[in-house]
Amino acid sequence: AVVMGIESSCDETGVGLVADGRLLGECTATSMDEHARFGGIVPEVAARAHLQSMVPAVRTALERAGLEKGDVDAVAVTAGPGLSTALTVGIAAAKAYALALGVPLLGVHHLAGHVAADTLEHGPLPERSVGLVVSGGHTSLLMLGDLARDPIVHLGDTADDAAGEAFDKVARLLGLGYPGGPALSRAAAEGDPGAIRFPRPTVGPYGFSFSGLKSAVARWIDASQGPLPVADIAASFQEAVCDVLTAKAVAACTDHGVDTLVIAGGVAANGRLRELAESRCAERGITVRVPPPRLCTDNGAMIAAVGSMLVEAGAPWAPPGMSADSSAPLTAALLQPVKGA
Ligand code: ATP
Ligand code: MG
Ligand code: FE
Repeated sequence: AVVMGIESSCDETGVGLVADGRLLGECTATSMDEHARFGGIVPEVAARAHLQSMVPAVRTALERAGLEKGDVDAVAVTAGPGLSTALTVGIAAAKAYALALGVPLLGVHHLAGHVAADTLEHGPLPERSVGLVVSGGHTSLLMLGDLARDPIVHLGDTADDAAGEAFDKVARLLGLGYPGGPALSRAAAEGDPGAIRFPRPTVGPYGFSFSGLKSAVARWIDASQGPLPVADIAASFQEAVCDVLTAKAVAACTDHGVDTLVIAGGVAANGRLRELAESRCAERGITVRVPPPRLCTDNGAMIAAVGSMLVEAGAPWAPPGMSADSSAPLTAALLQPVKGA
């Protein structure tokens, strides 16, 4: 079955086409530049950009896949979490396509999409795995089974800022612009990760906390004199984040006897995070799976990937009144709220 996935939770308008776990074509448009001068995403601006880009993105994705819209057997859409106004545009579009084509509609949890992105590159997940979702809004350690059938169990989350948010805020402190993650990791490549020993706060066995680290960087910058060693600060900050993320992820795997770690979300595009995870996991016989960078950040293919699994598993279609849930916790891949916020 060909599943079309639609993603609009933030500033990317993503459309992907997946059949039997295989990516056939995709298109991602972004309104990132329109938000840059505000230093963050403006929900109304994102919503209007989705409205402008959605139909062209669907057309382009179909074209790239060599398909016509009549070939689509089901439509999957991000139902949350994310910006309400932005999600609503994608949901409305998905409903319209499903209705016009007479095919099922399925609501998908955005973070399950991030995890599923990896299956498009590396095939189905094993029976059990630990997921580390590190994105702009989330930092979670998860116990994963069959994504379409099993509940998802949270082992730990961040107590305050998400990892991606920390990258963005520190990039801003360093004047590296927006979005900060990619800019900061580029700056870090020229720096010494051991130059400054930033704190590595954690909460409980699998929980994270990044606001203290961000404040420590701010204090260090305030106290420093002369030209700012931007590359060294970036590299040292990145090292602190990657150190705690990988240490906790490895602990979650060994404590639970799980031999596969899936890292997903925008921050999974970070080269140092991959490198450190791979070296620490190799020592313990744990396989690390990370999607290719272009599938780490928001896209429609990852939503189609979940949709494909849900269709396969015989999941129920979305109710006609399905709406967005801006803050749904990740307890299952299927998310079909009728009310929400
Ligand atoms: P969520 O998925 O939690 O709703 P989101 O969709 O905004 O949030 P993603 O698109 O998954 O987030 O990821 C974007 C985040 O990833 C941003 O915070 C960005 O700075 C970060 N990011 C992207 N590339 C890199 C990189 N190479 N290194 C570090 N961080 C990165
Ligand atoms: Mg984005
Ligand atoms: Fe995301």
